[in-house]
Amino acid sequence: MYLFRKDLQEKEPVQVEIPHKRVMMSLNESTLNPLGLMKGPFLNNLSKIALNRYFSDITADLREKLCQYTGNEIGEDQILMGNGADQMLYYIFLAMRNSGDDFALSLAPSYFDYQSYCSAVGLGFKTHELDDDFDFSPDAYLEASKDRNCRLIIICYPNNPTGNLFDEEKIIEVVENTNLPVLIDETYYEFSNKTFIDRLKKYPNLIIVRSFSKSFSVAGLRFGYMVSTPENIREISKVFTAFNLSILIQTFALTLLEHRDKFLNHTKNVVKSRNKLFNRLSAIENVTVYSSDTNFLIFTIGEKTLELHDYLSAHDISVRSMHKLPLLANHLRVSVGTEGDNDLFVKLIEEFLNK
Ligand code: PMP
Repeated sequence: MYLFRKDLQEKEPVQVEIPHKRVMMSLNESTLNPLGLMKGPFLNNLSKIALNRYFSDITADLREKLCQYTGNEIGEDQILMGNGADQMLYYIFLAMRNSGDDFALSLAPSYFDYQSYCSAVGLGFKTHELDDDFDFSPDAYLEASKDRNCRLIIICYPNNPTGNLFDEEKIIEVVENTNLPVLIDETYYEFSNKTFIDRLKKYPNLIIVRSFSKSFSVAGLRFGYMVSTPENIREISKVFTAFNLSILIQTFALTLLEHRDKFLNHTKNVVKSRNKLFNRLSAIENVTVYSSDTNFLIFTIGEKTLELHDYLSAHDISVRSMHKLPLLANHLRVSVGTEGDNDLFVKLIEEFLNK
């Protein structure tokens, strides 16, 4: 007899199948480990907390700093924090499901874990394919959302894995013409500097999710947050566990915010490196690379792309193959590395093409 929820029987466990290589350019991580930089200030903040307690004043401090950081007069009742953008997505999905037929709608390809978290909470998941330019028609997307079981519209901005920002006007067209909540995933916000947080007053159906894993360089810390209206935040908070976020994580996140200029400067350098890598790849005959507003690039060398993946892998570089995605079969996604990583990566591509 199966002991668990019936629909779980069909589901695969959530797994990230990425081989660990010396040069990791597959998970859109930062190349900066902030632990060294932050050790002193972190330990100083840490000395003020009591780990034997559930509550800490640090929570209010962090919330206040986060509100300041998001700007736009965001109130403290407009933010929820948790273990990465992933957990925010999970809780949002959990708060959306009414019946077994309900589903969330996403453009595709997009962040692959939308589907795994939707199915984890028993919410269905449907997609609307992007066109060859990684773009979409708001009318068609809205049409797909008109099914009475559609509970949530997702837009990843900029989109992972295609790397592009959709037109602001197109997103507004979607938001203005639906009564459904629209989740804007701004995990890569700091690389694009484009946000919908300033539209919250006008469009109360927006829910914005952000992460500290990319620009703030702490994927391993697991810190993310969501911003919406006080009313939406109150409802979503009902599915949260009490004390969902460790005080240690909160202390580190607060320390990062207190030193945010360092990370925002680092982000500017990553953007420069990304542009440089884009130009270098564009200059190679047989490589097609797409412009990006994130810390990664999508590219292809045509039919031999998967062979190139294996070649890079054999030379200890991990990049992400997109072969499972119909629009991106024969494409690889590479995260911007250090100058040394990027040099090695370009050199190996040239070597492979000249073989
Ligand atoms: N959304 C998108 C679009 C992502 O690419 C990722 C992670 N790569 C996440 C959410 C999850 O981020 P976090 O590490 O904050 O859970």
